Amino acid sequence: MSRAILPGSMVKGQPATLGVMGGGQLGRMFVHAAQAMGYFTAVLDPDAASPAGLVSHHHVQTDYLDEQGLQQLMACCSAITTEFENVPAPALRTLAAQCPVAPGADAVAIAQDRAAEKAHFVRCGVPVAPHAVIDTSEQLAAVADDLLPGILKTARMGYDGKGQIRVKTRQELAAAWDELKNVPCVLEKMLPLMAECSVIVARGADGQMVNFPVQLNLHREGILAVTTVGDGAVPADLAAQAVAATRAIAEGIHYVGVLCVEFFILEGGQLVVNEMAPRPHNSGHYTMNACDQSQFELQVRTLAGLPLTQPCQHSPAIMLNLLGDLWPEGGAPAWDKVLALPGSHLHLYGKLSARPGRKMGHLNITGVTPEAVRATALQAAALLGIEAF
Ligand code: ATP
Ligand code: MG
Repeated sequence: MSRAILPGSMVKGQPATLGVMGGGQLGRMFVHAAQAMGYFTAVLDPDAASPAGLVSHHHVQTDYLDEQGLQQLMACCSAITTEFENVPAPALRTLAAQCPVAPGADAVAIAQDRAAEKAHFVRCGVPVAPHAVIDTSEQLAAVADDLLPGILKTARMGYDGKGQIRVKTRQELAAAWDELKNVPCVLEKMLPLMAECSVIVARGADGQMVNFPVQLNLHREGILAVTTVGDGAVPADLAAQAVAATRAIAEGIHYVGVLCVEFFILEGGQLVVNEMAPRPHNSGHYTMNACDQSQFELQVRTLAGLPLTQPCQHSPAIMLNLLGDLWPEGGAPAWDKVLALPGSHLHLYGKLSARPGRKMGHLNITGVTPEAVRATALQAAALLGIEAF
């Protein structure tokens, strides 16, 4: 990835084309950012109606491990990225043999596995929750008492709180492991959370790294609900620690691309790392309206080998996640009223059926002061039927 793929250029006789594995909303916003800069785009996703496939120049509609599909994608792409961490690492390795791929399969493989991920955080000197890896019934029996009450999480394929069971006793733990079909898991001690925050960095192949400010995240039922970012959202000393930890985590795997690291802030004010996502993140969607560059633009730049400049947040912001629960039967929420609020920016992902818990879009609120942003965000929440925060 030493030579930049310049926007609007020709590469091997075809227009410079950036590809993405996965066609969800993150892929769609990547495609939008890439196209805004003049790239052609390609998406691989089996779903004919995938949010990113619908807006891309090319849509390869096969499974992620389909040899022909991967060949087709490689044939039209100058470089390829991924939009969700469960893209099989072997597929990324196949692609990397013929085409620049970022982030690399090794980094994605670590993020796919909670046990490997925690080991990496520890190697980087960043505190993690006390935990035990459970692959066998012997390991289950040997779990230390002080990890209870805890949360049993599948090592792989978890998202939005799925694949997680809260347990108080050894009996509950054993039952939970059975319920999770005895797949490899990590048991984490339940920690007293005061708040949660995350940091997004972008790192180029040359090792240059930039970061967005620390954002404060409110989760409801295991799903991100509200992100707040601006002066004072996270105390300055904790924010500095979180940024330094995120940079160390990215550096430690020679990461190339956009990386998000999520943290817990404990009641005593201590910072503990939760997990990382090898891609743009829901908690960074505010960057689309509150910063001079979005996280998706930085994903494009890292993939194409373009220079990175430190992003600048020019407005305080709040992001409200829009889940399918807000959709009235057969209709749409009152966007006309919401968009009458100053500084409101609507992003919908082109999903036609709204189901409870399904991420349909997000609403960014920007304004001059954090107080004004919060007042507007609360008005929007009330109009939409989102619980106040
Ligand atoms: P996603 O990838 O969508 O962020 P996930 O399914 O990987 O979610 P986690 O981030 O592990 O899930 O956990 C979801 C939420 O559950 C956390 O944001 C936090 O609110 C809560 N949680 C997870 N682990 C702990 C813990 N050890 N102690 C207290 N709360 C926790
Ligand atoms: Mg999480």
